[in-house]
Amino acid sequence: MRIEEDIKLDFKDVLIRPKRSTLKSRKEVDIRREYTFLHSNRKFFGVPVVAANMDGVGTMDMARAFETHGEGLSVALTKHYSPEELVEFYKTDAAKNAWFSMGIVERDIEKLEKVREAFGADADNVVDKLCIDVANGYSEAFADFVKSTREKFPNVTIMAGNVVTGEMVEELTLSGADVVKVGIGPGSVCTTRKMTGVGYPQLSAVIECADAAHGLKGLVCSDGGCTVPGDFAKAFGAGADFVMAGGMFAGHDQSECKIVEEDGQKFVVFYGMSSKTAMDKHSGGVAEYRASEGKTVKVPYRGPVENTLQDILGGVRSACTYVGATKLKELSKRMTFIRVTQQINEVFGKS
Ligand code: 5GP
Repeated sequence: MRIEEDIKLDFKDVLIRPKRSTLKSRKEVDIRREYTFLHSNRKFFGVPVVAANMDGVGTMDMARAFETHGEGLSVALTKHYSPEELVEFYKTDAAKNAWFSMGIVERDIEKLEKVREAFGADADNVVDKLCIDVANGYSEAFADFVKSTREKFPNVTIMAGNVVTGEMVEELTLSGADVVKVGIGPGSVCTTRKMTGVGYPQLSAVIECADAAHGLKGLVCSDGGCTVPGDFAKAFGAGADFVMAGGMFAGHDQSECKIVEEDGQKFVVFYGMSSKTAMDKHSGGVAEYRASEGKTVKVPYRGPVENTLQDILGGVRSACTYVGATKLKELSKRMTFIRVTQQINEVFGKS
């Protein structure tokens, strides 16, 4: 047994130190980024914020709303669309910024092949981004799967995760991942830390993993734990190349879920993808060997996602202004975090 004594930090443990700058307004700030992916050699240009591949968040409606918004935001689609639905969707412009999500079992590959078949020789250009997603990215089988997927589709961009430590980011990057997804346990509807005791504070995970990935010219996506718009700025400031969020995008018109009314209040049911709710819905109950590691909550209905986008993107732009970064790319270079004991004044409540 060993104890690591240095303190690891979450978003809530720090604030961003303002810096002198010549920027006059947040309108002068450009929060789009341009990347050339290490393995696929494809280019990305846009605001690197990704809606998580969760029911109620990673929906085709969300992808359409992001497309309408027009700054290159992307959506990781939930794993639960049928091949037929996916083929129809991939014929539209909204698919340009979509990640095709998959697990690592045979039927995931079969589904991908089925969708690709519909596009023949153009398949690589249509389904050009994969998100290979498992709860625990530490198994050898996972790295092997990333490797074989890379060999099969050399020109397709692959995001893979989740992990939280530098050595595994390196292994997955070397196995063929263009982007490694970082986060174990920080999620809004995740109970991994409670059920297993496993996890890593998200800000430190991002700092350490980004460092490891960038050393190999790879990229990381911070996944989970953003609870307020300022957390996106902190994640980017910590070195994240993409930031993925679930809970903050839940509860909108784009959820493709029923809006329920109770005592005059509207809400949308939101759940973790390994919660009992998700397993009952998609795979006939919780598998015996597997503890449910997600919870089910009611999120207040929040109307169209556009309002939330304005809050999040406005927050990131404003953070850039405070530290004098004209481009999102400069944010991490100009970032000084200060450790705090209190982040937000909650005297009038938490919102
Ligand atoms: P959020 O932005 O809501 O804090 O976190 C979203 C992330 O939580 C997702 O992208 C995914 O990585 C993770 N997640 C989603 N569902 C579950 C679940 O049921 N269990 C766990 N452990 N993590 C989940």
